[in-house]
Amino acid sequence: MKLTAFAARLFFSAIFFFACATVRGEVRTNSYGLRVVTDIRDYMAQVKESPDLAMVDARKVIPSIKVDLKYAGTHNLLGKKLYTWARPLVRKQVAERLRRVQEDLSKEGLGLKIYDAYRPYNITVELWRGKALKPEYLAPPRLGSHHNRGAAVDVTLVDAQGQELDMPSHFDDLSERASHNFKNASPSALANRRKLGTTMCRHGFVGLSNEWWHYRTEDAEKFDILDIPFMEF
Ligand SMILES: [Zn+2]
Repeated sequence: MKLTAFAARLFFSAIFFFACATVRGEVRTNSYGLRVVTDIRDYMAQVKESPDLAMVDARKVIPSIKVDLKYAGTHNLLGKKLYTWARPLVRKQVAERLRRVQEDLSKEGLGLKIYDAYRPYNITVELWRGKALKPEYLAPPRLGSHHNRGAAVDVTLVDAQGQELDMPSHFDDLSERASHNFKNASPSALANRRKLGTTMCRHGFVGLSNEWWHYRTEDAEKFDILDIPFMEF
């Protein structure tokens, strides 16, 4: 009997090992038909092959950058804390672009403040399901967000003391005030929005018409969508 039980265990262990071995290194598509990297070992294998894919803390590359991750607190769309152990993570190449933006801004006594950077894919799904919003304000789970790819940031401008400059709206204000086309704000707010936009675009970022704070890199689509907790990087 004992031998039979041992043989059975060996058999099922072999099946389990085979199953694991076959999925290792493969990135599967999820129920939305989207390719999502969910295992840190798959991410690490990709980085080993292409070191530029590494996710880095923007503060390590740009020590002067300010950070206030809105989804790590409760001042956000859902009014609840969505991130734990959050860090402002972006792909290495994205951090380098941000460093050049920061260098440009520093010549005028200004700098960047990050409201959001990498967002695990499951948080995008939660945001989508969590509140009835106009679809143009959120990335649908079937597409994912450029934040999920580590290739988008939500940013604003700060002065030399780290104080936020006047902008036409607050972060995540989903009214017409958040649009780049909104004109009915103070001249300084309009000028600040324009300065942020021209500086970001000079270094390879692309804006989003209805959110003045959101920028992705021109090549954002080349990065895989990730659904890996912050603490694992
Ligand atoms: Zn964004």
